[in-house]
Amino acid sequence: MRAHHDGTRCVHAGLPEPVPGQPFLPGPVFAAPYHLDPWAGPAVAPNGYGRPDNPTRRLLEAAIGELEGGGCRVFASGQAAITGLLLTLLRPGDTVVLPADGYFPVRAFATDTLAGLGVRVLLAPTAGPYPPFDGVRLVLLETPANPGLDVADVPALAERAHAAGALVAVDNTTATPLGQRPLELGADLVVASGTKALTGHSDLLLGYVASRSAELLDPVTAWRTVTGAVPGAFDAWLAHRSLATLDLRLARQTANAGALARLLAERPDVTGLRWPGLPGDPAHPVASVQMRRMPGVLSFDLGDADRVGRFLDAARLVAAATSFGGLHTTADRRAQWGDDTPPGFVRLSCGVEDTVDLVADVTGALDAAG
Ligand SMILES: *Cc1c(COP(=O)(O)O)cnc(C)c1O
Repeated sequence: MRAHHDGTRCVHAGLPEPVPGQPFLPGPVFAAPYHLDPWAGPAVAPNGYGRPDNPTRRLLEAAIGELEGGGCRVFASGQAAITGLLLTLLRPGDTVVLPADGYFPVRAFATDTLAGLGVRVLLAPTAGPYPPFDGVRLVLLETPANPGLDVADVPALAERAHAAGALVAVDNTTATPLGQRPLELGADLVVASGTKALTGHSDLLLGYVASRSAELLDPVTAWRTVTGAVPGAFDAWLAHRSLATLDLRLARQTANAGALARLLAERPDVTGLRWPGLPGDPAHPVASVQMRRMPGVLSFDLGDADRVGRFLDAARLVAAATSFGGLHTTADRRAQWGDDTPPGFVRLSCGVEDTVDLVADVTGALDAAG
């Protein structure tokens, strides 16, 4: 069959063969236990108990797996997926390389929990330089990194890691599988939050691990079953429903980010602008080769917390909110959460509003912020 393009793939991802009289996407199946065959027990049907088995979840996993190009297991949140992956793969005495500038709670988990279990944690900036990978069990890359938006060269780092016998996982949250396919770029595993652009409606938490290797995915499945970090059926169904519009949402978000990046680049009252799609951005050379589309997120500095407050107060179309990738444009002053960004640092996530409206609103709000 001819390979379909992104929009088509999203609309059809994970859907069962059509059945007359049935919906395109079957409704959520709510069950803790399922009926068992009284003689054969759980051996003859896939569904026995809700923690390991749920058909709504399996359809979502088929969908995300199709988009990533591998097998997929979904989790209750991105953090559950990442910590689950780390605890599945790492043993006392192992060394893991994590991004120094990536999602802050992952670093906190590493220093609080992994280090306490006797795992050696090395932090490397996403843009490099990376330490030698000899003796390393796992290299986790986050690209583009949240919130700084630096980019890691996945094929080059995967080659180096594999030569040293290390595994490579890529956090694909910011890019989504339409923006970048880490498994095709040489990564062994993808891990991500589906809470952000993947599902895009700011109404659920989700995470997933994807891989082409059953040897890697089977222990992740076993980990999820024993720890129980599964999403509920309704969230899985909402996520699957939302996937159909991923291509459309990303197209508008990327267009909006491009327009805002060009606006912000011209403003003397904005510093530190980062967007990998800008030709002058340090991440652009690698991003333009390995990414299939640019993210709807950009970051910049307004100098201090007060000015960020005035900007958000004046903006009608930019809501103060954390997280990113949703339909509504949002901005987050990251330092308010206690991470290590400067006080005026803003991560702005473009929604799907009309570009002219957004550009006018941000222009007016920056003028009003002084
Ligand atoms: C949000 C995020 C996570 C964690 O996802 P949750 O769904 O909030 O648990 C992990 N990695 C990155 C890059 C994120 O942005």
